[in-house]
Amino acid sequence: MSKLAWGLIGGGEDSQIGSAHRIAAGLDGAFAFAAGALDIDPARGRAFALRLGAERDRAYGDWREMLESESRRPDRVDLVTVATPNQTHFEITKAFLEAGFDVLCEKPMTTTVAEAAEVAALARDKGRLCAVNYGYSGYPLVRQMRAMVAAGELGRVRLVVAEFAHGFHADAADAGNPRVRWRYDPAQAGVSSVLADAGSHALHMACFVTGQQVSRLSADFASCIEGRALEDDAQVAFRMTGGAVGRLWTSAVAVGRMHGLTLQVFGERGGLSWAQEQPNQLSWTPLNEATRILERGGPNLSASAQRSSRLVVGHAEGLFGAFGNVYADLAEVILARKDGRSPSAEALHYPSAAEGLHSIAAIHAAAASAKSGGAWTDVTA
Ligand code: NAD
Repeated sequence: MSKLAWGLIGGGEDSQIGSAHRIAAGLDGAFAFAAGALDIDPARGRAFALRLGAERDRAYGDWREMLESESRRPDRVDLVTVATPNQTHFEITKAFLEAGFDVLCEKPMTTTVAEAAEVAALARDKGRLCAVNYGYSGYPLVRQMRAMVAAGELGRVRLVVAEFAHGFHADAADAGNPRVRWRYDPAQAGVSSVLADAGSHALHMACFVTGQQVSRLSADFASCIEGRALEDDAQVAFRMTGGAVGRLWTSAVAVGRMHGLTLQVFGERGGLSWAQEQPNQLSWTPLNEATRILERGGPNLSASAQRSSRLVVGHAEGLFGAFGNVYADLAEVILARKDGRSPSAEALHYPSAAEGLHSIAAIHAAAASAKSGGAWTDVTA
């Protein structure tokens, strides 16, 4: 069986996230890099695409050129990943969906709720796959948490505590640094900085693991560094559709915290705790019993955790594998469609455009709440 043809937009040689996509897409041999418009600089983008193995006529200088040319090819790419800066996601994702391509878009899917709703509706109407890369939901033990909650092992979920706090924008002397400055400029970043950039991952995981959505929230945004127009720290209290109480802390000024993404879920019959910096262990404490550590690759894990794991127990798996699981799910959905069969139910765990829309709606509700002194605000999408 030949590999699926994969296209990438953005994710150039100097980018932060491009290499994770390239490695993840190739991890299980389902996708082969076939075409790309990889860089804001056309010459640099073409040269890098050629080095990655694209044919000369598929190493594009610009995404519009790629759209036009790929649309005409009988061997057009099977999946396009959009890994450009945030403000371009809507235009590029929409254009490729309209032309009938399947798309994996980096988060945040768009900058406004109206745009996110348009993308989700377009994917539905066109019958195309549209995923958004909340890729931390691909970690095997995050999928284990979801499976345990779904199987009722925790009983009713009472409380979810999510954090994504790092300290990499804590230096006030960085005010003029272009890589930092845009993130706190509403014209470029939208209504939120650290919540949209980092906290949204933790919020997505809270929804993914509990199977509930955020129904309403109260937010406190702070700019700890003077002069920032957007928040560099936020606390969000929220309530979920299944009755769970939620707490989220996100920060960019928490010096000493590194990636700082954690999730704790407390139910009637036990509690789970996971930290992305130690992704191969999950702490599980059944009510009135001793805590036990579930090891990735170890015994008695759910089918979804086993399916998302590639190495035997004791070998560290990390981010590439987690993103690789999103790609594996998408490959299964695309191949099933080609074969005229239903995809494996386990493959439907990829983060969808509907989840991308919910995430943008929660970010906008939080920004509105913070502006009105933390007023409880409904999340409507
Ligand atoms: P970056 O600035 O490091 O890299 C962006 C890349 O896109 C560069 O190679 C640039 O040349 C290219 N580019 C810019 N405009 C382009 C255009 N119009 N056409 C083609 N290429 C273009 O950014 P990054 O940190 O890699 O982030 C990219 C996206 O990925 C952002 O939306 C970010 O939020 C997201 N991201 C997601 C995660 C995650 O965990 N899911 C982590 C990091 C970044």
